Amino acid sequence: MTQRIIIAGSGFAGLWAAMSAARAVYTLDKDPMASDIEIIMVSPEPKVCIRPRLYEAVLENMDPDIGPLLQEVGVKHLPGFIEAIDTYKKSITVLKHGEENVTLPYDRLVLATGSELFHPPVPGLAKYTFSVNTLSDARKLHEHLQALASQSRSQARDTIVVVGGGLTGLETATEMPTRLRHILGPEAEARVVIVDTADQIGIDMGIEPATLIAQALSDCGVEARAGVRVEEVDECGVRLSNGEHIKAHTVIWAAGMRASSLTAQIPGERDSLGRILGDEFLHAPGVKGVFVTGDTVKVPTDNQGNYNVMSCQHAMSLGRVAGHNAAAELLGLPLHPYSQPKYVTCLDLGPWGALYTEGWDRQVHYIRNEGKKIKQEINTVWIYPPEPDREAVFSVANPDFVVVP
Ligand SMILES: Cc1cc2nc3c(=O)[nH]c(=O)nc-3n(C[C@H](O)[C@H](O)[C@H](O)COP(=O)(O)OP(=O)(O)OC[C@H]3O[C@@H](n4cnc5c(N)ncnc54)[C@H](O)[C@@H]3O)c2cc1C
Repeated sequence: MTQRIIIAGSGFAGLWAAMSAARAVYTLDKDPMASDIEIIMVSPEPKVCIRPRLYEAVLENMDPDIGPLLQEVGVKHLPGFIEAIDTYKKSITVLKHGEENVTLPYDRLVLATGSELFHPPVPGLAKYTFSVNTLSDARKLHEHLQALASQSRSQARDTIVVVGGGLTGLETATEMPTRLRHILGPEAEARVVIVDTADQIGIDMGIEPATLIAQALSDCGVEARAGVRVEEVDECGVRLSNGEHIKAHTVIWAAGMRASSLTAQIPGERDSLGRILGDEFLHAPGVKGVFVTGDTVKVPTDNQGNYNVMSCQHAMSLGRVAGHNAAAELLGLPLHPYSQPKYVTCLDLGPWGALYTEGWDRQVHYIRNEGKKIKQEINTVWIYPPEPDREAVFSVANPDFVVVP
């Protein structure tokens, strides 16, 4: 009888879960009678959204088509949006655009539906802010920025406020002065302000990185407002907790992520971001037949007390392990424990360059142009889906493949 693995989501984790499950089924299973396993990926489209690049000015090639790749490795794609997961009956309900809902039973489910932007209950926040969380959000921001050129000149038109001094906020803010000047012309007094509740922007990364970040913000012409909260947003700008009101027609929210809302339908313990606490094999421990991966899971990366963060780097490895284990369980093969001791960050800081660090203590290895070269390599090569060549793909889809060399 055919057994079915459903991969929910076609992001970094979903893609590599599908490749790794297919590899296990097609290359590791020595018994053809037992390899009657169907792998179905469910997501709105057979595309991977390259979310880490959505802060960039040019939104080209941001959602490459993985249809041919899935076909090459024998993974089916069902277009649709998963609305419900019934972990008791082991089925999902898929909302299909303009068609009847479909209910699909599974033997193993790999939840790889990523993360969503979180809006805390700050007045006006959800209504008046832009973001770079999804491709459509980034396009909406792009169109809004282009349209500023036809507005009459004012302080609010020429000012962008980026809320959140984490990696996404910093990458977005340092890109904006050049982008705004390009749109408004050199005579405009383009102003970009980054706001964060921490006492120093970037201090979460450590003292040396934070000092370099301060230098980069200053070089790029970005003003910092640290140790303050946004209290209100309206069509004229933002009001901060220190009483300052910044007039701005563009406010970008980059301050909060939560795991996909589908995690709420999986029984089990979760962290403050809504991620399910997975076991070492990436099972959702509270329920049978479900693996959690990418931004939907929290799990140790090593035995030093470190945990995965919401990142492609972790998602690509977590995906490989979850997909492999889902197939291995059906094939009666040994499961592979997740481990990813090496951790790097590469933060784009606009015209200043990029900051590349290694380790959880974020030792600075490369800065400025040297860092930027690595960032460009990551953003244009490393995180992109591979060519549809079965042998080549399977050679890098094993669960112990090291994503960051
Ligand atoms: C602006 C920005 C910059 C970033 N920069 C970096 C960076 O520099 N480095 C880094 O490592 N990480 C970065 N990240 C984080 C990184 O993009 C995420 O951690 C990563 O995308 C997580 O991968 P994932 O596969 O878990 O989820 P995602 O990539 O979010 O993929 C989720 C998939 O699930 C699908 N899906 C969602 N809900 C449903 C549903 N109900 N039914 C069916 N399908 C569904 C989506 O369509 C998508 O295909 C950045 C993120 C953003 C937004």
